[in-house]
Amino acid sequence: MAVISGDVYKERIDGLQQNVWIEGKKVEGSISSHPAFKGAIQSQAELYDLQGEQKHSDVLVHTDEAGRTFGTSYLIPKTKEDLEKRRQMVQVWARHTGGLMGRSPDYMNTVLAAFTASVHLLEGEENCFPENIINLYNRAVKHDLSFTHTFINPQNNRSLLVFMDDETPNARVVDCNDDGMVVHGAKLLATQGGMTDEIIVFSPPGVIDESQAFAFSIPSDTKGLTFACRRSFVGNGNRFDSPLSNRFDEMDSVVMFDHVVVPWDRVFYYNNNKVANDFFIKSYFAPFTMHQIVSRQVVKTEFALGVAKLIVDAINISEYEHVQLKLAEMIKGLECARALLTQSEVQAEADERGVLVPARTPLYVAVTSFQELYPRMTEIIELLGASGMVCLPHEEQLNSSIGCELERYMRGHDLTGRDKLALFNLASDLCMSQFGTRQTLYERFFFGDPVRLSKMITGFYNFESSTSFANSFLKS
Ligand SMILES: Cc1cc2nc3c(=O)[nH]c(=O)nc-3n(C[C@H](O)[C@H](O)[C@H](O)COP(=O)(O)OP(=O)(O)OC[C@H]3O[C@@H](n4cnc5c(N)ncnc54)[C@H](O)[C@@H]3O)c2cc1C
Repeated sequence: MAVISGDVYKERIDGLQQNVWIEGKKVEGSISSHPAFKGAIQSQAELYDLQGEQKHSDVLVHTDEAGRTFGTSYLIPKTKEDLEKRRQMVQVWARHTGGLMGRSPDYMNTVLAAFTASVHLLEGEENCFPENIINLYNRAVKHDLSFTHTFINPQNNRSLLVFMDDETPNARVVDCNDDGMVVHGAKLLATQGGMTDEIIVFSPPGVIDESQAFAFSIPSDTKGLTFACRRSFVGNGNRFDSPLSNRFDEMDSVVMFDHVVVPWDRVFYYNNNKVANDFFIKSYFAPFTMHQIVSRQVVKTEFALGVAKLIVDAINISEYEHVQLKLAEMIKGLECARALLTQSEVQAEADERGVLVPARTPLYVAVTSFQELYPRMTEIIELLGASGMVCLPHEEQLNSSIGCELERYMRGHDLTGRDKLALFNLASDLCMSQFGTRQTLYERFFFGDPVRLSKMITGFYNFESSTSFANSFLKS
């Protein structure tokens, strides 16, 4: 099995006995038919189906030197062509969702590829099992497995003095025995928790307590594992009224571990602070994952820009200077993101094992810029759309006896009332619905706190050429 179809993905997820709770009830029966999950699972299934379409297979499917055929999202890049192919793969999938599914399978498949390309950091180290990462990667490639992940600890006490707390709710290793290591406690959240074959769990950067310094992967239905979901942001089920939230609401859930036994052949490392921190900072997790992220964000920016321009045309406001400036702000964001993405590929460097690693600095700049750009883009869409963003009768009003008259009053500059409403429903769902505001929070935070992420740039940036340049001026 090289790449799977959407049906295979759904059958596998439905076949799991995962313990998922929502609205005070355990999800019983097939998760793919539950109202809170079915839209996102269907959209994810459509992504898998694209792999089987001939027009996309050149980009979405890869055959390596050993003759193995698999999804390009698992590809560990060795050449510039590999990196370009990875970017194109992400963007084909992102175009299908408007970039609104942050956790389309390519995200975690990229994380696993990054871990696999970084196993040298574990070799010969205490309590480390690099072979388990390689085995998982090979299984994932063979069966086109899907993953979610969780690494941040619950948000109870973020003080620097948190280590003085006697009791921690954080997931930690409480026992080790012949069967495996026993994990108890919680992790902050997993997007798509319960919607994937497996969950990869690892410690956050800066871990101090050795019992929390671990990484592993287990099936989503492992005994003792519970996904406690947030409330659903799915719309009313009508595609016209809620064109995005019905399809792309990826659930988020708190991940609870009740003495979960993680078999030894599933453990990547444990009880080793140095490795846990090194694996975050020195591994290819950041550059590989950010290359995936920025590739998607470029598509999402194109989408948001398109929505903004359609609004401008729909109500004919393009002659106003501030409107042009607002569109220009979005265009600048888009072009900068594209340029940074290309730059990360141009500056990519091969390591001693031949892995081609995209340059970190342009990617960090792109990801942290997007944390500011995305909320601004949704604000711009609101500023352009104004009252149109809320004057949105349900489709059933249009189909009622007042529908004809209503459509006449709702018409746009060059659009029927129905088409204008469809456009503004899209804009409102993108920016203002619960789904839309979660999208904004997601882009602000999902890869890390914007403050600490931006601070990292000055930490690793090489100032040498700038300071010696300034110094030479000083001395001349
Ligand atoms: C929609 C969404 C989906 C997500 N999906 C996933 C997922 O699938 N898997 C996963 O593991 N994680 C996921 N995350 C979590 C994400 O990684 C975190 O939100 C992010 O790392 C920030 O952590 P936090 O939310 O705990 O915020 P906190 O760290 O609690 O920050 C809260 C506030 O306190 C400030 N603060 C806290 N500590 C410090 C400090 N040391 N120095 C300076 N300021 C500080 C921050 O700047 C911020 O303003 C998701 C988040 C969101 C919003």
